[in-house]
Amino acid sequence: MSREFDVVVVGAGPAGYAAAIRSAQLGMSTACVDKSVQKNGEPTLGGTCLNWGCIPSKALLDATHHYAILRDLGDMGIEVDGCRMDIPKMIARKDAVVRQLTSGITVLFKANGVKHLPGTGTLLGDGRVRVVEHDGKFRELRASNMVLATGSTPIELPSVPMDGQHIVDSTGALEFQAAPKRLGVIGAGIIGLELGSVWGRLGSEVVVLEALSELLPAADERVGRDAKRIFKRQGLDIRLGATVIGAAVDNGEVTVTYAVGDKEDRLVVDKLIVGVGRKPLTRDLFTPEAGIGLDERGFVSVDQNCRTSASGVFAVGDVVRGPMLAHKGAEEGIMAVERIAGHKPVVNYHAIPSVIYTHPEIAWVGKTEQELRSDGVPYRSSVFQFGASGRALAANDTSGFVKVLAHEKTDRIIGVHILGPSASELISAGVIAMEFEGSAEDLALTMFAHPTLSEAVHEAALGIAGNAIHMVNRKKS
Ligand code: NAD
Repeated sequence: MSREFDVVVVGAGPAGYAAAIRSAQLGMSTACVDKSVQKNGEPTLGGTCLNWGCIPSKALLDATHHYAILRDLGDMGIEVDGCRMDIPKMIARKDAVVRQLTSGITVLFKANGVKHLPGTGTLLGDGRVRVVEHDGKFRELRASNMVLATGSTPIELPSVPMDGQHIVDSTGALEFQAAPKRLGVIGAGIIGLELGSVWGRLGSEVVVLEALSELLPAADERVGRDAKRIFKRQGLDIRLGATVIGAAVDNGEVTVTYAVGDKEDRLVVDKLIVGVGRKPLTRDLFTPEAGIGLDERGFVSVDQNCRTSASGVFAVGDVVRGPMLAHKGAEEGIMAVERIAGHKPVVNYHAIPSVIYTHPEIAWVGKTEQELRSDGVPYRSSVFQFGASGRALAANDTSGFVKVLAHEKTDRIIGVHILGPSASELISAGVIAMEFEGSAEDLALTMFAHPTLSEAVHEAALGIAGNAIHMVNRKKS
């Protein structure tokens, strides 16, 4: 059977479902093909983010954060006796949150008139897509335009074979029914730090093995340095310069072998999480006749507007270059279908926020101080500590700072870096300022509610010109 659509989207993660909904809103007949199934075998929408990534990990991070801070409430006069964690209940709630959100996408598809086609989509060329359903039946669709949004999959280390029980990836680490006594994590990236935090808060002794010699090299150098100190205080044993070379399960224990310089060391744990990055998912996505090219790293090749080398075919999200972030993919998906509809939007790749949902949270947008130095860009830097924020003190949550970086000559904001409470929310002020090409003075002249954490952004911006009120300014040059 062959059916015609204006747009067929392959993949229903944040990039694909946003593209499909927007496409239908623009009046184009739209189908979205996705092969994901839930634990019970039912098709599911929302991709990695909603089912096995951003959302379930946040459900566990939020639950365990509430549990962890109970120990620190004594200062506020709250004495907590007899509190205990019911981990199976926490996991069940996480699953309920996922179900609610994924079924919400089903509702949105219906309301907007997007046809959901469960199965694996493969581009055949000439505007044809084959969909192989879960029972093996297949159908062929014809579409004037296509959007590839198949996302990414965890990178596996061949010398660390995952068994789904003792050695797991990020998906497996969301399903533990008890906190392992000894937990190893390979990779101190976003996944390693978030999942290490979840299980560390529940009592696991966590050792994180990271091949690089510094923590979070993509973040501002001071963020990485301060975060390392704070995570250490929280009990995360982060070993830098430690490259894992193998792991084996024996008698219910995992022995991990790792190299530090030319020395070899071993770590014995009960569970091991592999969080060493993700790779684009292009398996079965197209036949050679489809005319799609891949770059040297295996991403679908696209131009700055996400057009592939095949006419009428766009690719968006984790399957193309750029940071693997849900919000970046969603913006690209929307841009792609708006371009199909004849509009001319662009994605601003200079103002993509990054967030790590540890506590304190880490968030940034734009350039880091070390990047500006190595690019030879003249800049001013201003830092405001949450320790001087009335609201942070009242909330007993004072770790971290806001750093604003502005061009020395134009005063244009070129980077905002936050380590601290609600950094994920506060970073929006920096993103908006950069999107509007604002200056530090623009932020400084903006009124922020008192008492709020966001005043830390205001003070850091004021500090660029030496005008901060609630900290001692550096001497004006
Ligand atoms: P990552 O690239 O952030 O970190 C992986 C780390 O593993 C790196 O620091 C790397 O040096 C280290 N590593 C690799 N091989 C190693 C080895 N053999 N021994 C020791 N260390 C090793 O990748 P990730 O944390 O797996 O996350 C994958 C992707 O998912 C990222 O692109 C991330 O942006 C995205 N993600 C985002 C969020 C969020 O936005 N909060 C959350 C989770 C994942």
